[in-house]
Amino acid sequence: KPTFKIVGLKASVEGKEILKGVDLEVKGGEVHAVMGPNGTGKSTLASAIMGHPKYEVTEGQVLLNGEDVLEMEVDERARAGIFLAMQYPSEISGVTNADFMRSAINAKRGEGNEISLIKFIRMMEEKMKALEIDPQFMHRYLNEGFSGGEKKRNEILQMLMLEPSICILDEIDSGLDIDALKVVSEAVNSMRSEDRGFLIITHYQRLLNYIKPDFVHVMMQGRIVKSGGPELAERLEAEGYDWIKEELGIVD
Ligand code: ADP
Ligand code: MG
Ligand code: MG
Repeated sequence: KPTFKIVGLKASVEGKEILKGVDLEVKGGEVHAVMGPNGTGKSTLASAIMGHPKYEVTEGQVLLNGEDVLEMEVDERARAGIFLAMQYPSEISGVTNADFMRSAINAKRGEGNEISLIKFIRMMEEKMKALEIDPQFMHRYLNEGFSGGEKKRNEILQMLMLEPSICILDEIDSGLDIDALKVVSEAVNSMRSEDRGFLIITHYQRLLNYIKPDFVHVMMQGRIVKSGGPELAERLEAEGYDWIKEELGIVD
């Protein structure tokens, strides 16, 4: 059962401190939702964990099963089993979706243990079917010309293929219509297990009707300011964030 621990994490972008000490622990079998107003540092948290070069970690720790993630190279973090479905996935021209996915899988499996082409194609076809993605997307350049919703489905496809132990989903619901949201949520739910923990970043409660979280955290101004169960998300949906600001005396 994996344990993922974020301790006192501080991070800056272009010299400006965005994360001001984030603490969070996700264990296998758990789904944690991180909610919060725009611009509070949710995506920054995800990027800092993954080692995006623009985000400088100035303090704190990220530990996967006790191992120091921040000491790992970026590609090592993915190989260690941390996955991020990005809010704004980037386009890679000249690299097909299948090529990209196959190298990611093989990087994780290691030299001498590469997946056979037949097995890979069968696996990709099966997962694409589950996500109702058109088979032609296998041979399209990664995210190039994909609609917002297609990019999001494709991010989840990567997650299904890579079977990570810690899944971070950043605003996976944005750009999805209600039918796509159901398909994507079902795929995520199908992956819930004791071997896997989820950190689901979302601005809206709607997603959490489909992916039921065990814990809900509210992030404001670079910190987790409140944690609770699913009822916290429902209250946020009904009342917004102002009551939390009042309760905690936050001025913006
Ligand atoms: P959220 O995901 O909660 O909406 P972000 O983490 O994207 O918030 O952004 C938090 C703050 O950091 C914002 O003020 C944003 O403008 C700033 N920020 C994030 N990424 C960058 C970047 N690459 N360059 C400059 N500023 C950034
Ligand atoms: Mg945002
Ligand atoms: Mg964001």
